[in-house]
Amino acid sequence: MNKIIQAIRDVQIFGEEGGVVPVIDHASASTFLNPDDMERVFRGELQGCYLYSRHTNPTVIAFSKKMAAMENTEAAFGVASGMAAITCAVEQIMQNEGHIISSNTIYGGTYALFENILKKRGIEITFVDPMDVSAFEKAIKSNTKMIYTESMSNPLLGVGDLEAIGKLCKKNNIKLVVDNTFTPLMVTPSNLGADVVIHSCTKYISGASDMIAGVICSSSKFINELIDVNHGHAMIYGPVMDPRVAYELYSRLDHLHVRLQGHSSAAEILVKKLKDEGIKGVTYAGSSDHPQFKVIKKLFNTDFGYGGMVTIDCGTLENASRLAAKLQDNKFGLFAVSLGYSRTLMSCPSASTSSEIPLKDQEKIGLKRGLLRLSVGYSGDSNHLAEKFVAAYREVISS
Ligand code: PLP
Repeated sequence: MNKIIQAIRDVQIFGEEGGVVPVIDHASASTFLNPDDMERVFRGELQGCYLYSRHTNPTVIAFSKKMAAMENTEAAFGVASGMAAITCAVEQIMQNEGHIISSNTIYGGTYALFENILKKRGIEITFVDPMDVSAFEKAIKSNTKMIYTESMSNPLLGVGDLEAIGKLCKKNNIKLVVDNTFTPLMVTPSNLGADVVIHSCTKYISGASDMIAGVICSSSKFINELIDVNHGHAMIYGPVMDPRVAYELYSRLDHLHVRLQGHSSAAEILVKKLKDEGIKGVTYAGSSDHPQFKVIKKLFNTDFGYGGMVTIDCGTLENASRLAAKLQDNKFGLFAVSLGYSRTLMSCPSASTSSEIPLKDQEKIGLKRGLLRLSVGYSGDSNHLAEKFVAAYREVISS
């Protein structure tokens, strides 16, 4: 059995009376039998006991243990959203000063955090092409504290050489933070030198498009810093994960690999059909014509395939929108942001999830107005759905 699947499976937390699933611990506060212990917790002298659910909650810890097993980190901490994970992790490292080198092709919300919020607080940000390791190296300054990148860029599906970036970070004593939302199980950034790995669990880890959640995976030291009662950004900003959400995610991690294999094989069928039909402008991590296919082969754990993310350049935003509308009408998929759902989701990133990036910068990074992003779902007959796609494409874009 794949080692990661085994590691996730081996985290077995029993419910009260030996239940095969953990209980949902609803309590917002825990009782202390010895008053001195409570004071010691607040003084930072006593760790590892439950205090208040914004600090630690047994069900959130159960989920976090599985995530740490999956990401091969010492610890993890579930939070309320992917953006909460990014904000808390980045601010904990930066401490309101210094320089971040960030990939220039990142999720629009992360771009907005860097450009519209952190920059205004005096943090310096340099955006670089994540496919070019030397660009990261050239941007390093004496006050650089962090390199931030995505394992697979949203929405361009580029894959930078994380291993080389990891080595660069170690050599220069810089923290490497990686958003692994697009490639859970497929890429393990901590094995490649990442210090902090975050996920928007809203996506593949949930798999049902029914909740917003996030997680930060890192060393025990870093996770303890995040929940420190006096200085921890997670504890003080307070974007906690609800224990009911933690319970759901704990259970869903057991079938993440099956779902991911489903996404991968459905995407492969669609991409093959598009290629066979001579449809151009398709990008997929599993295609040998992907610009970073060599790096993908080096970094990916292909037991799970290459995931469900596919993009198609439709020429113009109008074309992409009309095609998506047609594909929604013919029940191929749903016109909605987000990804990782059992059904195919379609969006036009330039005008939606990347619209925080000014148009001139979108152009610079190669984000075309007519790009249609698909998160290919596994529900339904993939061959039949691929035929529906081609029929709609022929009708709307070219015959
Ligand atoms: N990271 C990536 C790559 C994303 O695509 C998103 C959301 O789309 C986020 C982070 C933010 O996650 P959330 O919406 O759960 O806050």
